[in-house]
Amino acid sequence: MNVNQSVPPVPSFGQPQPVYPGYHQSSYGGQSGSTAPTIPYGAYNGPVPGYQQTLPQGMFLFLLSDPPASASQSLPVQCEASADFKGLPGSQPFGSPLAPVGNQPAVLQPYGPPPTSAQVTAQLSGMQISGAVAPAPPSSGLGYGPPTSLASASGSFPNSGLYGSYPQGQAPPLSQAQGHPGIQTSQRSAPSQASGFTPPASGGPRLPSMTGPLLPGQSFGGPSVSQPNHVSSPPPQALPPGTQMTGPLGPLPPMHSLQQPGYQPQQNGSFGPARGPQPNYGSPYPAAPTFGSQSGPQPLPPKRLDPDAIPSPIQVIEDDRNNRGTEPFVTGVRGQVPPLVTTNFLVKDQGNASPRYIRCTSYNIPCTSDMAKQAQVPLAAVIKPLASLPPEEASPYVVDHGESGPLRCNRCKAYMCPFMQFIEGGRRFQCCFCSCINDVPPQYFQHLDHTGKRVDAYDRPELSLGSYEFLATVDYCKNNKFPSPPAFIFMIDVSYNAIRTGLVRLLCEELKSLLDFLPREGGAEESAIRVGFVTYNKVLHFYNVKSSLAQPQMMVVSDVADMFVPLLDGFLVNVNESRAVITSLLDQIPEMFADTRETETVFVPVIQAGMEALKAAECAGKLFLFHTSLPIAEAPGKLKNRDDRKLINTDKEKTLFQPQTGAYQTLAKECVAQGCCVDVFLFPNQYVDVATLSVVPQLTGGSVYKYACFQVWCEEQVGGLSLEGRHVALVIPFALTVHVASGIRAVDFFGAFYMSNTTDVELAGLDGDKTVTVEFKHDDRLNEESGALLQCALLYTSCAGQRRLRIHNLALNCCTQLADLYRNCETDTLINYMAKFAYRGVLNSPVKAVRDTLITQCAQILACYRKNCASPSSAGQLILPECMKLLPVYLNCVLKSDVLQPGAEITTDDRAYVRQLVTSMDVAETNVFFYPRLLPLTKSPIESTTEPPAVRASEERLSNGDMYLLENGLNLFLWVGASVQQGVVQSLFSVSSFSQITSGLSVLPVLDNPLSKKVRGLIDSLRAQRSRYMKLIVVKQEDKLEMLFKHFLVEDKSLSGGASYVDFLCHMHKEIRQLLS
Ligand SMILES: [Zn+2]
Repeated sequence: MNVNQSVPPVPSFGQPQPVYPGYHQSSYGGQSGSTAPTIPYGAYNGPVPGYQQTLPQGMFLFLLSDPPASASQSLPVQCEASADFKGLPGSQPFGSPLAPVGNQPAVLQPYGPPPTSAQVTAQLSGMQISGAVAPAPPSSGLGYGPPTSLASASGSFPNSGLYGSYPQGQAPPLSQAQGHPGIQTSQRSAPSQASGFTPPASGGPRLPSMTGPLLPGQSFGGPSVSQPNHVSSPPPQALPPGTQMTGPLGPLPPMHSLQQPGYQPQQNGSFGPARGPQPNYGSPYPAAPTFGSQSGPQPLPPKRLDPDAIPSPIQVIEDDRNNRGTEPFVTGVRGQVPPLVTTNFLVKDQGNASPRYIRCTSYNIPCTSDMAKQAQVPLAAVIKPLASLPPEEASPYVVDHGESGPLRCNRCKAYMCPFMQFIEGGRRFQCCFCSCINDVPPQYFQHLDHTGKRVDAYDRPELSLGSYEFLATVDYCKNNKFPSPPAFIFMIDVSYNAIRTGLVRLLCEELKSLLDFLPREGGAEESAIRVGFVTYNKVLHFYNVKSSLAQPQMMVVSDVADMFVPLLDGFLVNVNESRAVITSLLDQIPEMFADTRETETVFVPVIQAGMEALKAAECAGKLFLFHTSLPIAEAPGKLKNRDDRKLINTDKEKTLFQPQTGAYQTLAKECVAQGCCVDVFLFPNQYVDVATLSVVPQLTGGSVYKYACFQVWCEEQVGGLSLEGRHVALVIPFALTVHVASGIRAVDFFGAFYMSNTTDVELAGLDGDKTVTVEFKHDDRLNEESGALLQCALLYTSCAGQRRLRIHNLALNCCTQLADLYRNCETDTLINYMAKFAYRGVLNSPVKAVRDTLITQCAQILACYRKNCASPSSAGQLILPECMKLLPVYLNCVLKSDVLQPGAEITTDDRAYVRQLVTSMDVAETNVFFYPRLLPLTKSPIESTTEPPAVRASEERLSNGDMYLLENGLNLFLWVGASVQQGVVQSLFSVSSFSQITSGLSVLPVLDNPLSKKVRGLIDSLRAQRSRYMKLIVVKQEDKLEMLFKHFLVEDKSLSGGASYVDFLCHMHKEIRQLLS
């Protein structure tokens, strides 16, 4: 990641969390946290030897179950979602990718060193490529391999143990599909079936992009459930049962047809007749062979779970788009689950905050803590207080209550909101959070109508909307004084490295234009923000750029141990007034240091200086540090190189994520007190200790950007830098408070901020991309009738210096039935929370323990559903709640991520970086980060202006006659298949053949033809959707670089030992059965 990004990671140093509390709580049913899970299966980090040994005789991961597999295809469904695993365990190698199929040579990817070019290396930094760490898969482990002839090929599976032989995407063996589609998801009470349910068998229309030579059976749309769960009307049978098994699936066992007609949906969501006998399942289930020849005790041919029959993220995303993208989401109804983050929809605020501001893990929360503990579903809200809105939606109205300030509850200090209850003819109101009765101030009095509502309710945003702002009075200001407009200070490393790479020259050029983009209030002509400049290596240089000077003046401070600011007047200036002096300074800086030999840098004193300057100017502000190396110069915060890969997978691995010294935290605390937010742009060419350098940005609400191996001659990098540089913070917040109704309380916070106590989040800065995640726990019993309320209040200073409070309110339902909880969850938000929880966990616990905890929690969530919400069915069925059917696939992506399961090529810095990034991500960002988007380029009509429909992130889905864009918010690849038509190659790359395409290319030639315009346009549009610039890398099929790309095909087994989706699902099923037995 060069300029663009690097790879993600994030620590939530957010608050001193002594011991990763979550992991030691009793929430896991008495298990002792991370160390002693009662479940015998350890972390699922790949083929674990024990994984196969522990299987009881006769118990397979998935049994053939009752209804013949195919029945499911046509089944309309029944419950929330159920899945039947029909795959039989065979003796294939664990999780091996499919055996090669004729038409495409299996390419052995040499598992080699990373590509050599500079750019590539840069990109490498963020990715896992190696498998060195992982244990080799047992060659004879249990597997899900195809029984067929292909399987025979697999008998000698080349890749057991050798990652080198990872075959290229192949078609799933036909045989497995035959008669045994793996899982069925069906929908219960299907609200939506009518609209969205599609027969899995002929997924054609839904997955247009899956084409190509590859996979037989691939187009099988998979379980399709379309709908968000909360609805519930009896589903019309949308599909004619049994009609669609076609094509690639192969012949069905005869019985399928038998089952279909007359099949009644069950209420529990399990698919198929619940009572079904499981042919293979040992004792508890009498064998009632429903499966024709397959039934019976005799060993069945091994089957592999059909990837097309397991829940597909793409399908779920598409269904939600189709079903919920057309109508605006109206927030008037309590506890309504919003459309997915991947769906484009408009929001109408009718009393609850838009999902753009707040998303919850569940919109219906258990009334009691016992229920909550039983279900293990984390109760959390991901809040993005300053989220940007589409142009069609209005920004929150600003309400001015005059000198008296915003109206609040006297006791709990919650702000006036639509849920407050006016009583006694309007003279008093009862607080919806704490029930305190408050007097209504005379100037705020209004009569009530016959329903008890104030007659002016719809004229006042605070009485009718979910989100609005109050103008704050002087009481809300530090020292009871209105703040001055904030200042920005640019601090540039001018050590040898920075000069040599051309970074300093580039930055100075970019800054000249950046200064035109300083944030300004509404229609203001110029920004009120003042700017200042500092350069440094092991000493600091301050610049006087007062407008009256003919030339800038430099002042050097060499006493870095006791930092002070040598000048006040002329340091922070108005850009327009001092434009000439500033331009002159930026022209001179590269020349002044052109011959420097100074290689050492300081870091802490630089931030200290910036903070002191803000303090002296009596304003809040933001520092932008452009830094290149490990700060080894003698000064506070001096660091040493402590990178040690040998610590990986040991108990000491956590130290790699912890800061090296406490000096950074101390400094961060001072910055927060001053309202000094720090953004750090790193341009390292070796280890710089991101874990330590990111402490201050992390605690002050700032960002870290990392551009490994920066080389200025790469023009694409320049583009990325300027783009990100413009991403300047808009506001300087002060505090964020979360009020919740009695019965629950906020117990934990994640994000980029500082907490001086357990309830108040202090922020030195916040921008529209940052989120704060809050976890709730029960205090007391909640009431179904009153529901649960949440109010988030952000006190901030606008860029013009106005003090405001931004309020977001959200009301949730409360339930006494677990089924209601499971029907109203949002998996994307759950994953966002769980990833943040885990990524903070690695600071204090071994990575393996963190992975185990995630798996256990997920199994408990699903087991609780199975036990309490699904009707009885055979143990061979995996039953997933409809709205959580993607939980396993997404969780597996988190488990395989660079932070939790690093490949050999992932640097310590990149892991720390990603860890820290994820902490502030919103739900849309984590969604695409963990499950990248893969878009085929030539299948949709050239004139189509919409984004092509995505395909699943698996090698099996790639056609060698097509090209694909893959993006995850940080990385962007263009993969070119070896058989792409020559004309296409010419149109896009301006070369005559595939072999002439430059691998690793990062800029497409600008050509005047429809395809070139379309692809470049799509790339631009993808970049525009993300907050960080994504650098493009062109990857050719079968080229060395392809390994980088494959790292992002997250449904496949990863080189570092991460399980494939299919294998992980099997593993989860086993875990669940363990819990239930
Ligand atoms: Zn109150």
